[in-house]
Amino acid sequence: MHGTRGTGKSDAATGAEFRGNGDVVTDLEVREHPRSIRYLHEQHPLGAETIEVAPGILWARIPLMRESDGWTVVDTGTSDDNARAVWDLLLAGPLSGAPIVHLIATHGHTDHVGLAGWLFDRAGGVPYHITLTEWLSAQLRVEEAKSPLGPNAHRFLERHGCDPDTIASFGEERIRTRTFMGALPDEFIRLRDGATVRFGGRKWEVMVCGGHAAAHASFWCADEKILIAGDQVLSKISPMIGVFPNEPEANPLAEYLTSLDRFRHLPADALVLPSHGLPFHGLRVRVQELAYHHELRLTALLGLMETPSTAMTLARGLFPKPVAEGQGRHAFAETLAHAHYLIETGAAARKMGPDGRVMFSRP
Ligand SMILES: [Zn+2]
Repeated sequence: MHGTRGTGKSDAATGAEFRGNGDVVTDLEVREHPRSIRYLHEQHPLGAETIEVAPGILWARIPLMRESDGWTVVDTGTSDDNARAVWDLLLAGPLSGAPIVHLIATHGHTDHVGLAGWLFDRAGGVPYHITLTEWLSAQLRVEEAKSPLGPNAHRFLERHGCDPDTIASFGEERIRTRTFMGALPDEFIRLRDGATVRFGGRKWEVMVCGGHAAAHASFWCADEKILIAGDQVLSKISPMIGVFPNEPEANPLAEYLTSLDRFRHLPADALVLPSHGLPFHGLRVRVQELAYHHELRLTALLGLMETPSTAMTLARGLFPKPVAEGQGRHAFAETLAHAHYLIETGAAARKMGPDGRVMFSRP
């Protein structure tokens, strides 16, 4: 992961990974293809350790690119004491020979931008590159965190069958955001889809995609076949695709699957640098696995819809273990994303029950 604070760990065999820092990923239930996906290293670098994954690109849980005049940092980690301590060590150690000259954010989730303002100030106000949508949505999350969950959000969660504990956990997440999200830099340079940017002595095409976040930026270096994938393509786990109260009718899974088509067309032997997990070769296989993973979920969900059910009931069927372990919020958001996809493709139907609950069913 980019963030230096990892409270969860990937467990592809047993369930889901739901982090406490606002960025959430679920496990893959599909098989790995060891002959097709090759990891560059077996382990993450620890603490302030760095590993050179390509000439001039250091991996310190946070990717760092060597410029002729300094360092470019991709994502920052959450705003907490551990992450700040690692940054202090990095700045005093491997990075001490040159200043930070650019900061880049792939997207606005807490573990990617939590320390952006702090580093921006430490680096003396260097250019901060992020998509407009992600800069705004991160700012909005900071604002939202100042007040409790509103009545619309309550109504949304109730009509989808969420129990009081799940509703409470949506409220608690807002408080966590307040804890782990520092102020953002108050100025930025906008990343646009298809634009060419230059970092780390290389030319990168910006690929802005939806699904996991509204406007997530990945970076493709065609000359050297390196993809900074961010959270859009992860090595072992599937990025969280969820519907949340502030956009109750969203269909993020459609956006995500569309984005996979773009990555599918990149060269098969590209080096992929994801935000969570290990750098790897085997992009096309990985994209195929991610698409297959969602296909399996959709099929399972349709099966559960034989009995007309609320999204929360479906989530209990689809993710029994995470729900039992108190991760109902993420299970619900992910289930609703899949349900909306099925509604939009016409594979499922929904109607309001007599008690005001939204019921999903086979048409
Ligand atoms: Zn994320």
